[in-house]
Amino acid sequence: AALALDNTYHHAQVQEQARLDSLTGVYNHGYFIQTLQEQTKNCREQNQPLSLIMLDIDHFKQYNDTYGHLVGDEILVKLCEIIREHIKKNDAVGRWGGEEFSISLPNTASQQALQIAQRIRKTMAAVKIGNDHSRSIPAPTISMGIAIFPEETNEIMKLIDLADKRLYIAKERGRDQIEPAPTP
Ligand code: GH3
Ligand code: MG
Ligand code: MG
Repeated sequence: AALALDNTYHHAQVQEQARLDSLTGVYNHGYFIQTLQEQTKNCREQNQPLSLIMLDIDHFKQYNDTYGHLVGDEILVKLCEIIREHIKKNDAVGRWGGEEFSISLPNTASQQALQIAQRIRKTMAAVKIGNDHSRSIPAPTISMGIAIFPEETNEIMKLIDLADKRLYIAKERGRDQIEPAPTP
């Protein structure tokens, strides 16, 4: 019985790990989408909005080239810590790939989502990393795009696409900024 229990526990642990990004501990791509599907279903039933933020680090290739990939990795970990500090228990963070992340905020309307995005951007801007003796390497800036469910669309792939398009508008406008959903 002890062995069976141990196997069950191990199985649960392996399942949990398979859902998480190994570097940052946030949800991986597949699990994030699954979570977003459940969250939008709940919000629809409760007649509540959900805000989706897409986030991408600015000029991260250049940053890696300048400071090295280990510093780059440290930035990815730190960014995810900061995101988690600014969101609630029922919100979700996913790594979309590379240096692109998404944040879903159930029961959160446009104005509040913009505030959260601004806080994440400002907190990140103040980060310095390096070794214990000199933490002097500045963090890269980040850009974000926001879209609102179901106000703008009730299809999650369209929601993701909309947030993504706004992220690229933020990039084109000079990076280090947020492109919110238009106010109705
Ligand atoms: P942009 O401002 O347009 O987003 O420019 P960018 O350089 O950030 O965009 P690009 O997509 O060209 O480069 C993304 C870079 O992110 C490339 C790669 O070196 C880096 N990257 C992706 N995943 C990781 C990772 O796990 N660790 C580190 N250190 N770097 C990563
Ligand atoms: Mg980038
Ligand atoms: Mg990218």
